[in-house]
Amino acid sequence: MNQSTCIFCKIVAGEIPSKKVFEDEEFFAFEDINPQAPVHILIVPKKHLVDLFDGSQDPALLGELVARSAAIARERGIKDYRFLTNTGREAGQAVFHLHFHLLSGRRMGWPPG
Ligand code: 5GP
Ligand code: ZN
Repeated sequence: MNQSTCIFCKIVAGEIPSKKVFEDEEFFAFEDINPQAPVHILIVPKKHLVDLFDGSQDPALLGELVARSAAIARERGIKDYRFLTNTGREAGQAVFHLHFHLLSGRRMGWPPG
């Protein structure tokens, strides 16, 4: 999948509608279409990065993205949340544009499935 066919690039560009939660120059956050918890927000870099291996080339961007998750949670009065990314199909990655899941609103199980 490249940028022209990537669904998250299309969401960032507004070509596919989404319920936007946050946007700045670098990041876009929106509600997951198939929520796995009462709060399920996806946070993506606007830049098309495939996965965490790709994203790791820009540690500053990753740090800002993690900090942004806390800001989004704080703004919503969320005190407990899980923040994760799936890297590779076996880990559960289905969309190959780097994204982090912010999940909250229910008790989380451990270990994850
Ligand atoms: P992954 O399995 O790659 O970690 O997560 C992909 C996530 O993207 C899934 O939770 C899925 O529900 C969500 N998703 C896939 N397509 C769309 C879409 O078109 N719109 C939105 N809002 N979420 C999507
Ligand atoms: Zn993309």
